[in-house]
Amino acid sequence: MVRRQLYLALGGALIVIGALVWWFKVDGSEPVARLEGDSEVVGRNAEWAVDIRSPGRSGIASVEIRLVSGDRNFALAERRFEANGWFGSGVDALRVPVEADLGSLGVPEGPAALEVLVETHGWRLFDRPAPIAGRFPQVVDRTPPSGEVISDQHNLRVGGSAIGIFRVAPDATDVEVVVGNYRFPVTRGYFRDPALMLGVFAVPQDVLPSVQPTLRVRDAVGNILDVPIRSDIRPRQFRERTLRIGDQFLARKIPQLYSAQGLGVPGSLLEGYLRVNGEGRRESEKRLAEVAGKTEPRVLWSGAFRRLARSETMSEFGDRRSYSYEGKIVDKQTHLGVDLASLKRAEIGAAQNGVVVFAGDLGIYGATVVLDHGLGVATLYGHLSSIEVAVGDRVEVGHILGRSGESGLAGGDHLHFSTMVHGVHVDPAEWWDAKWLRDHVDAKISTFPPAHTVLTEGEADGQ
Ligand SMILES: [Zn+2]
Repeated sequence: MVRRQLYLALGGALIVIGALVWWFKVDGSEPVARLEGDSEVVGRNAEWAVDIRSPGRSGIASVEIRLVSGDRNFALAERRFEANGWFGSGVDALRVPVEADLGSLGVPEGPAALEVLVETHGWRLFDRPAPIAGRFPQVVDRTPPSGEVISDQHNLRVGGSAIGIFRVAPDATDVEVVVGNYRFPVTRGYFRDPALMLGVFAVPQDVLPSVQPTLRVRDAVGNILDVPIRSDIRPRQFRERTLRIGDQFLARKIPQLYSAQGLGVPGSLLEGYLRVNGEGRRESEKRLAEVAGKTEPRVLWSGAFRRLARSETMSEFGDRRSYSYEGKIVDKQTHLGVDLASLKRAEIGAAQNGVVVFAGDLGIYGATVVLDHGLGVATLYGHLSSIEVAVGDRVEVGHILGRSGESGLAGGDHLHFSTMVHGVHVDPAEWWDAKWLRDHVDAKISTFPPAHTVLTEGEADGQ
């Protein structure tokens, strides 16, 4: 009697344990994968992100992601998760980013499928292959858009500007000129032929003459074509200058610059100066890069740019400045414009026809006006004592923008004048030179008919 009850209890316990094992380890719910985004075409450098969910109780054991093209499989990613006890890996949701260079993998162009295989730590009743948790059709397009450089040999000097003319396929979505770490956007829609594009670029003053300017063309799926732009770049030795800074100058400038820029109060005048000349300078350059985006896709200038009349050059473009305080060099910066001194509160005229894209306080530059002259070319007028134009104003060459002064980090009344190409400071002397402008810019632009009638002097201001 007792023995029979014992058997029953034992049997009952076995059934309960069996049910528990079944419930924990043999679950019928399959993992599911989802592809983020809705792109069905991938370029040479493919990027995906896969979300995986395993509703079962035993956790994910492995994930395998592969691209299937015809009868070939290309393994792209693999993840493994060890079981840490009876309850499996504990991983039931997962995001797997996948990056692959389909070119070096040798994936053929055309239709393919991204397959996601997921194993769990659950027991399987029958020995099946790893279940496919998701299969996503994709088309592989590894061919970059075509592009060529039409303009001839580009003769430049470090710190100088150039213009390139390019023919680019219509499937190109991004076109730019790359010079070292600098990128210059290319202007579309200037020429009647929509395949032709034009790009004003520069070899910035801090780039080595061995740099290779390159036309970079990219399509919607990230395929890239790089075409070298034939260039002869002459080196340039910039001047070394030491500037002495004294307490009197700092006491006059620093507290005022700090309150204007909303920076925290510095520990000492020198520390304050170093922050203004460092962080403050970088902040102003960031602002200029934003302003540079507001450029018209046409030429607004007519003839050479004008230099401030009857003025003396106090500092040149590219001067390597060392700042000395109490006999010690405390800072080094590069002077990215030209300092021109004339009379006190001299009238400052527009160097060429243009549109005011900035008018106001600009950190170390003080009260500043920036004019856009089209195609990414801009001029900057800094340290002004007054501003007589507003953003959006169209001005003709010579139009009075304001008066010279010593606002910002200026020690005396002068104009800080800078010429920029897509926000990068270049040597203004080239743009002041009528012959250089004609041969290096205007002649190249006029090789092909423009989409719109070219404006002549005077018309730019009308409307
Ligand atoms: Zn200056």
